[in-house]
Amino acid sequence: MTAQTSATAPKLVAYEDAVRRYDPVLGIEVHVELGTLTKMFCAAEVAYGGEPNTQVTPVSLGLPGALPVVNGKAVEYAIRIGLALNCSISENCRFARKNYFYPDVPKNFQTSQYDEPIAFDGWIDIELDDGEVFRVEIERAHMEEDAGKNTHVGGLTGRIQGAEYSLVDYNRAGIPLVEIVTRPIEGAGERAPEVARAYVQTLRDIFRSLDVSEARMERGNVRADVNLSLRPTPESPLGTRTETKNVNSFRSIERSVRYEVSRQAGVLDAGHTVIQETRHFHEEDGTTSSGRVKSDAEDYRYFPEPDLVPVAPSREWVEEIRATLPEMPVARRRRLQTDWGYADAEMRDVVNAGAIDLIEATVAAGTSAAGARKWWMGELARRAKQDEIMLEDLVVTPAQIAQLQGLVESGRINDKIARQVLEGVLAGEGDPEAVVVSRDLEIVSDDGPLLAAIDDALAAQPDIVEKVRGGNQGPVGAIIGAVMKATKGQADAKRVRELVLDRIGS
Ligand code: MN
Repeated sequence: MTAQTSATAPKLVAYEDAVRRYDPVLGIEVHVELGTLTKMFCAAEVAYGGEPNTQVTPVSLGLPGALPVVNGKAVEYAIRIGLALNCSISENCRFARKNYFYPDVPKNFQTSQYDEPIAFDGWIDIELDDGEVFRVEIERAHMEEDAGKNTHVGGLTGRIQGAEYSLVDYNRAGIPLVEIVTRPIEGAGERAPEVARAYVQTLRDIFRSLDVSEARMERGNVRADVNLSLRPTPESPLGTRTETKNVNSFRSIERSVRYEVSRQAGVLDAGHTVIQETRHFHEEDGTTSSGRVKSDAEDYRYFPEPDLVPVAPSREWVEEIRATLPEMPVARRRRLQTDWGYADAEMRDVVNAGAIDLIEATVAAGTSAAGARKWWMGELARRAKQDEIMLEDLVVTPAQIAQLQGLVESGRINDKIARQVLEGVLAGEGDPEAVVVSRDLEIVSDDGPLLAAIDDALAAQPDIVEKVRGGNQGPVGAIIGAVMKATKGQADAKRVRELVLDRIGS
């Protein structure tokens, strides 16, 4: 079957052309690793980066006679996720065996849930880049266990083809997962790549705010399988889908959807049919390639797991969990935008820069929202970009920025000097207060020395004094400039102006 695709290899259709003539439909499966202390069905430790095969028990190795026990914390986390996704929570559900052979699944089956997921029939609203809200319906969220990790050594691609030998690490085998499956996502049109990316991004934010997972894409805590099909019009029946597996960054999700739209359009234009299969995404060139022909569910011979009792969360417990849910990210964003009075575009920039928590903490430390934004989205954003790091990785705290802005607002320093103070803070010279003292940067606010400087400047430029006295305030800047120069920029320009006008007027 795969030979047919490679033999014909239809050419790609330009993306804009493809979405003009075809309607893309997405379906996204997201796996999230739960941040429990121990595994889903045994007491093996869950920790990232351990020596291979050190975090295992007879259960996670699938040894004969080993009996699994359900991790209660994992069930609680799964319910938290289900509730956050507006799902119904099952009153009674079972685990099932999903039977298949692969070396990373030592039992020859994955313990999962099949027709009785713990959570079902939900939805979430996601926000696109321009602020448009798009609703994604959730079919189910079910509990299961992760597989181990195969490493194929000696080949060029890291895949099993061409490898000399393979290693398997069972530390990951049995880590609790929740798999979230959407209903077909229709109506995204040309924005399908963006919708797919924003959906997974929103889920990631939700996992973090629920505190159920570190949700780090780069560590594989969150993995997305993106299904895509095309149909001639939104009224047509669904086309055949492909499933691009384990896309592991937001950018890749967007690129892989774009590519599949172009590729499938090419297949359809050539009069071929799209083959239902899994595909791999390639970071290097943004393409996908054929994986395996996709099994239907019946190939897995699912049956209820006889070694585990059903999970029957009481309604009281579910309501207790519901009462502890935090505010969801999109709602929080809207509330903060209203509180802070930011324009849509300003808020979007703040979100994209990852500055929302930093600004919130700076405001909490007493700074105005405008003042906090000025620093985090201005000087600090520039600095982070220059150093190619995240804003949150700069060695400056929200409390220090609040102190810095406080110094500006109290008139002890001006914005220009504040940037020098910030340099000092970033260089590890201490809090802004300390830097102002150690670098002797406090502006001159005592009127005595200022008045002396002003009198000197006035005496040096009598013609300007005449003009100003005659009612033309324009040239007064020359006097202020002279005073600022004489005080090495450490005078408060506003105060200088007041004093100069006062002096001339008297
Ligand atoms: Mn799964």
